[in-house]
Amino acid sequence: MTPSTNPNKERIEKLIASRKKHRKSLTVSYLVDAISNGNTQALSETITLLESTNFKDYNKAQEVIKQLIPKTGQSIRIGITGVPGVGKSTFIESFGTYLINQGKRVAVLAIDPSSEKSSGSILGDKTRMSTLSANPNAYIRPSATGGSLGGVARKTRESILLCEAAGFNVVLIETVGVGQSEIAVHSMTDFFLLLMLAGAGDELQGIKRGIMEMADTILISKADGENVKKANIARLEYKNALHLFPPNDNNWIPKVETLSSYDNHGIEKCWRIITEFEKQTKSNGFFMLNRNQQQKYWMNETLKERILNDFFKNDTFKQLISQTEKDLVNGKLTSFQAAEYIYNQFKVKQQNDI
Ligand code: GDP
Repeated sequence: MTPSTNPNKERIEKLIASRKKHRKSLTVSYLVDAISNGNTQALSETITLLESTNFKDYNKAQEVIKQLIPKTGQSIRIGITGVPGVGKSTFIESFGTYLINQGKRVAVLAIDPSSEKSSGSILGDKTRMSTLSANPNAYIRPSATGGSLGGVARKTRESILLCEAAGFNVVLIETVGVGQSEIAVHSMTDFFLLLMLAGAGDELQGIKRGIMEMADTILISKADGENVKKANIARLEYKNALHLFPPNDNNWIPKVETLSSYDNHGIEKCWRIITEFEKQTKSNGFFMLNRNQQQKYWMNETLKERILNDFFKNDTFKQLISQTEKDLVNGKLTSFQAAEYIYNQFKVKQQNDI
């Protein structure tokens, strides 16, 4: 069968075309009103526009966010990290359900740098959080795919704002414990939670020290059955280890607790800690200071990304770089001289443009 007569392909193409048409028909004012009324379909549509590589779509999403800004900011933004298999999604399922039973509305977003390759998220996947995703007071959105970590992170940050405007008052942002993505999540959340496994003697080696230093609370996961004893020992070890770290800017002493999402042990305690943290950092001024710093950080990150993109995607500079690379590998220039040469050409172009 030739591809053009493949009925499946035709069906999919028709579906994509009709989705595109539908998305085009969504006006900014419709999306703003619908999101303000807690419409999660409109929320998803806007996040999709935000993730679109089409400039018009992206701009439309930006306009929606701009109009919704007064309705944002009221949630507590919680970052959750830990190595794959530590129990993040099981925890989010239990914790999210607990919070909804307390009257909260919970949104779950994810930053998954590895999803670019698989063109599908391994995090935030609805099938991994089946109870929560079926709950009308929960909203689960898998990680944006494609683009740089910076780009994906910025879209996640903007998605937080959209979720807040839709009335979600707890936003959980999940990521895997692999390094850079934690820094991104840390710089868009109020509270940073690290899940760790109780290992045999290698407790402090599974995760980078820098990530432990960012944690406001460490939860030792799977503290049930035969694991309880090991988890309690690990808890004491981490507590001692954290004492050796310099104090955080927020004056908060990080907590270490055991957790079993299976037994619902530690879930309520975790929320109590977060509430206490919120109260303390709001009264000492850190909460707002941190959010303001985060806003400035993301403005600068966006600016850097735009400038780098303009530079590296510019045809003249692409050519110049590839020519200079030849001189570099032929030994005519050092790396430093090559960079200086390209940079000087860039400055000349800037001056000519002015
Ligand atoms: P993630 O990759 O960090 O999201 O981890 P998952 O939540 O998918 O959990 C990985 C595995 O650990 C799964 O087989 C879970 O059933 C199991 N698991 C998660 N939480 C617990 C727990 O509290 N106790 C026990 N015993 N196993 C758990």
